[in-house]
Amino acid sequence: MREQFPFFKAHPELVYLDTAATSQKPQALLDAIQNYYVNDNANVHRGLYKLAYDTTEAYENVRQQVAGFLGAASADEIIFTRGTTDSLNLVASAYGPQVVAAGSQIVVTGAEHHSNFIPWQQLAKRQQATFTVTPVKPDGTVDIAALLAAITPQTKVVAVAQVTNVAGDTLPIAKIAAKAHAVGAVVVVDGAQAVAHLAVDVQAMGADFYAFSGHKIYGPTGIGALYGRADLLQHMPPIQFGGEMISEVRDDVSTWADGPIKYEAGTPHIAGVIGLGAALTWFNQSVNAAAFDNEHQLADQLRAGLAAIPDVTVYGNQASLATVSFNLTGIHPHDLATFLDEQQIAVRAGHHCAQPLMARLGVPATVRASFGVYNNADDVERLIQAVQAARRYFHGID
Ligand code: PMP
Repeated sequence: MREQFPFFKAHPELVYLDTAATSQKPQALLDAIQNYYVNDNANVHRGLYKLAYDTTEAYENVRQQVAGFLGAASADEIIFTRGTTDSLNLVASAYGPQVVAAGSQIVVTGAEHHSNFIPWQQLAKRQQATFTVTPVKPDGTVDIAALLAAITPQTKVVAVAQVTNVAGDTLPIAKIAAKAHAVGAVVVVDGAQAVAHLAVDVQAMGADFYAFSGHKIYGPTGIGALYGRADLLQHMPPIQFGGEMISEVRDDVSTWADGPIKYEAGTPHIAGVIGLGAALTWFNQSVNAAAFDNEHQLADQLRAGLAAIPDVTVYGNQASLATVSFNLTGIHPHDLATFLDEQQIAVRAGHHCAQPLMARLGVPATVRASFGVYNNADDVERLIQAVQAARRYFHGID
């Protein structure tokens, strides 16, 4: 698998354990982007010449491909965005005010990434709604019973990650959706950490909106998608205006195009869309259930190895996917990450854009190791040994 990623030829000694921040890119994706710029470059949805038609067709084919990848009923339910953050802000700003009013309630978990937290917090403030943040367990995973109990007849939106980005736990979206739908609320799912590590089916899980980023699934940065249920998108107004998204524009009134391009004002990130399509094609061909299992096993191996080291706190649980966060008592996570960097091990240290979670765990930050399809047991072993060495070094143990 590693052979397919030129990054590892450029960095043969590096142990890359930061796929949750961004994944490395397979050659197939790099070739597709270069081919687009060299051979197929034209704007979409406007030109009246063959190249422009062909590029438009390729762009729209990726929309179909994303619909298939997510299990959506139709390509009309897929909006191209800049990524998860952009997708979630679009739902909160465009759809949010349609359903959230004074006295309504928005429910999020205490483990959300800022991009599935702040847009809802700000919407609640604008609409004078209640913003409920549900508890997490001491290991940083979401307390599902408390989340379900927080959903009330006033709830209009439940916004949750499918897989959280610090503890890596997987939320039972179907169960959450059943409770939310029973009170007439919609479920907005942040799929940023999920898409690369499990099979997604938005209809089966009952998601009303689902957001993800291309760069977390071996695709380009700057591109992502938002799935929105067709009947909900019908009533969702655009919030950006300009070229391509219109039907007619007069001095006094404008009308909008039908379908998702209504939300894609201006020249889109065409190379990003083409690249996303190539990444998904590569992913479907190369990444199977065995690869998912391997990532899960690496996470288990790391959790077990770290748990055996004195002074280490490990977050997450057996159901956590591909992501393990931890701390070494008495050592700042940034110092530990710097020590690991000197051993050519790339991990993330910080609050992981989850400050509400850090506050609940009572820590300023954690170290996070996260896996992709190119990682193996040796990578995990090197990290475990380096953490042992760090403990000896910082605690002055021989
Ligand atoms: N949600 C989660 C759970 C994430 O891990 C991330 C990326 N760190 C995001 C949202 C935001 O994704 P992006 O920066 O690609 O918009």
